[in-house]
Amino acid sequence: MVFTPPPVRGRLTANAPLAPLTWFQTGGAAEYLFRPADADDLAALLRAVPMDVPLTLLGAGSNVLIRDGGIKGIVIKLGRGFTAITATPDGYEVGAAALDQTLAQTAAADGRAGLEFLIGIPGSIGGAVRMNAGCYGREISDIIVYADVMHRSGDIERLDKDALGLSYRHSELPKDSIVLSAHLRTEPGDSDAITARLAEIRSLREETQPTGSRTGGSTFANPLGHKAWALIDAAGCRGLTRGGAMVSEKHCNFLINTGGATAEAIEALGETVRERVLQQSGITLRWEIERIGLSKDV
Ligand SMILES: Cc1cc2nc3c(=O)[nH]c(=O)nc-3n(C[C@H](O)[C@H](O)[C@H](O)COP(=O)(O)OP(=O)(O)OC[C@H]3O[C@@H](n4cnc5c(N)ncnc54)[C@H](O)[C@@H]3O)c2cc1C
Repeated sequence: MVFTPPPVRGRLTANAPLAPLTWFQTGGAAEYLFRPADADDLAALLRAVPMDVPLTLLGAGSNVLIRDGGIKGIVIKLGRGFTAITATPDGYEVGAAALDQTLAQTAAADGRAGLEFLIGIPGSIGGAVRMNAGCYGREISDIIVYADVMHRSGDIERLDKDALGLSYRHSELPKDSIVLSAHLRTEPGDSDAITARLAEIRSLREETQPTGSRTGGSTFANPLGHKAWALIDAAGCRGLTRGGAMVSEKHCNFLINTGGATAEAIEALGETVRERVLQQSGITLRWEIERIGLSKDV
């Protein structure tokens, strides 16, 4: 890639390892990793970079598997300049880098209801909007009013809920657009009751998911009318291993890096699971985890 880095106020690092920035803790490096100081800094970089330089957004890295050959172009990770949580009369204006769990705790302390489910999702608000994240019967589409996004041109646009095109673990955000913040709605609630609900969701998660492991959460989306984990279990894949990658014994729609697994091993294990489920049930599982970047040998 022919690319002369422009001056920035944030941090632009060449050949930056990405494994530490993901939950799987594996995968290659970014050709460049950019951590903008603020929205103006981000816009300045976007305007200075040729349109053919690929951009990749990384949130908290809880839904991505970065391949071992790394990512060409610029990986953008929003940080401190994008974590503000500001109360409004009907909810919160939340920076894209704020963590879902921090927002859930803030709302509980403020006695605002409706965001409890976010305590179960270990990502950022930007990633939650992109993925229409959800659990226990609620998802981002139930609470979002609008998101402010920056386009590749550096221009900012406010997209309301309909324009975001949110469906099950999916959005229609335009290519290369970056969520800067979102406006999420809350309802009046009782702080103690909300805090108790957070504790309940946390312990449910700990009981049923390998939350302390190197994982990417649910590997496959639930096919209509089915639970992915049940199909995987019925296909005999619980506990299946491959080169340090493992199908979780606790929740078999989770793949785990037991230590030292390459992204290739994790992806190959996922593909084996898909094949076995297809053979056993006739159903093709769709990856929910985003696999991004290049294979090692490319
Ligand atoms: C233990 C565990 C449990 C999980 N449980 C759930 C669950 O119950 N429900 C659920 O929905 N998910 C769950 N997940 C998956 C994951 O947490 C969610 O998908 C989360 O919303 C991803 O957010 P992130 O910030 O980590 O995004 P990343 O994984 O970093 O990125 C995911 C996608 O979002 C894009 N993205 C990130 N930030 C931005 C931005 N600012 N602008 C534009 N695009 C952006 C990335 O480019 C990528 O396409 C779980 C994951 C783990 C590890």
